[in-house]
Amino acid sequence: MAFCAAVTLAGGLQGTAGADAPRPAGPGAGPAPAAAPDFGASRADGTTFKDGTMSLGPAPAARRSVGAAPHGEGWQLDKATKLLASGYTIKFYDKKSADVLTRYVKASAADLQRVTNIRYTIDTKPVGWDYVRPRGEVVIGLLKRPCVPGATPDQPWKVVRDGSGTANLSCGFYSSSLPDTTTSGHAYIDSEFFTADGKAIPWMGETYLRSHISHELGHTMGLAHANRSEKRGDCAVGSDSGEKPVMCTPSDAYQDKRAGTYVQQFDVQGLRYLARGAGAALPPQGRVTGLAKKCLDVKGGKAANGTRVQLFTCNGGVAQSWILQKDGTFRALGKCLDNAGNVNKNGNRIQLSDCTGGPAQKWKTDAKGRIVHVASGKVLDVTGGRTANGTLIQLYTAKTAKGQVWSVPK
Ligand SMILES: [Zn+2]
Repeated sequence: MAFCAAVTLAGGLQGTAGADAPRPAGPGAGPAPAAAPDFGASRADGTTFKDGTMSLGPAPAARRSVGAAPHGEGWQLDKATKLLASGYTIKFYDKKSADVLTRYVKASAADLQRVTNIRYTIDTKPVGWDYVRPRGEVVIGLLKRPCVPGATPDQPWKVVRDGSGTANLSCGFYSSSLPDTTTSGHAYIDSEFFTADGKAIPWMGETYLRSHISHELGHTMGLAHANRSEKRGDCAVGSDSGEKPVMCTPSDAYQDKRAGTYVQQFDVQGLRYLARGAGAALPPQGRVTGLAKKCLDVKGGKAANGTRVQLFTCNGGVAQSWILQKDGTFRALGKCLDNAGNVNKNGNRIQLSDCTGGPAQKWKTDAKGRIVHVASGKVLDVTGGRTANGTLIQLYTAKTAKGQVWSVPK
């Protein structure tokens, strides 16, 4: 059949001042260009350049009602509500794109797969600039000033190969040749963000660039900007990170080791929504309840490494929203439940820390409802069996105590 109307989004970085300006990496940050609108549209699955230009057609009217999130605050979809159940292969237009971008794309793709349980593979063999994407492929390219926004939000975007686009603007689009489904995507990263040897330029910085690539790949999956309204720069700020979602305009997100991963409170929820639409078996997410029906809670909702985990009245907050990954991690606020130092002793500190993939962070539930630290065989225990808010959680030998019985999201 013919290509269905496909809606796409574009994103990037622009602005010299105000909330939209890219965050400089440090003193001496260089200039950034004037602000430009940041939406686009596409009406074909194929990437067809004519005379070096690919026209993406008009943006649908729905595109502009960005205030109406389908669910929650801080993440938004464009029209697509599903991912492709068979997953995606991410490819590169040319060798330079692959050489420079692969490490960022790999990290983003791993996170997309972790969040959605949908398969993402990477193929670094260049496809050429005239490649027409089949279903299930996302193609990414590095070009100088590749993106040209329309003069107004409902006017077409263009992608150009001659460097005549907008400085410091990358863009990402998705296509939908099956109703409601993101079937493929394409993204173009402005090469001006990189030095000649493929490093992040100083005013951009490595941390920011990681989030930037995740932002554009988020667009290729069907995520829209997370801004609360059409007013630019008014994204929700996470109570977890103190940062904005990756899908904010411009991309922002975690400024620490979590950089480039999708923000659990926001972007992750949009990706889960899309994956659920595809029928994916998502990692369970929700509260973990224990003694006195109180919740496993990150103290003060602070994501700093070393923050204690405690028992607290359930309040539906993000500090009590745990994602149970297949790899045995319990994640809240974009970090992992951690047995401090992986020490095997009663009373050892249970805390939140950067996810490392290490044995300090691998847990499983047993038939008695206990949460077992796999490496030590000891369990999560409410200190002294006390039910007061703020009672700290510790590691302890498994026994038959109510303070060791938990109910986890399924
Ligand atoms: Zn964007």
